Amino acid sequence: MNDKYICELCKKEFEKAITDEEANKEAEELFGVKEASNRADMAIVCDDCFKKIMKKETYILQEALRDLYYNFLKSIGIIWLVKKISFLELKNWVKEKEDK
Ligand SMILES: [Zn+2]
Repeated sequence: MNDKYICELCKKEFEKAITDEEANKEAEELFGVKEASNRADMAIVCDDCFKKIMKKETYILQEALRDLYYNFLKSIGIIWLVKKISFLELKNWVKEKEDK
């Protein structure tokens, strides 16, 4: 069994800390993907890179929440208030949305 792997993000070589079976189980729990180690659309990454990716995922989630928040504000017609007052960081973000 090959007990080393190369992280696809940082390209460094690492010892496998868990078996493929364990990694697959983890991937299934996290992403609902079966047999992750045999799939071309799943990348093997080291712990550090994985944490970075998960941080980014959280960030995307927050973005989605802000989208909801934006639509909510707009639906109750107080979006102008957000625009007028430089309120938190929302001002720039609303501008960003409306420019699209
Ligand atoms: Zn890495």
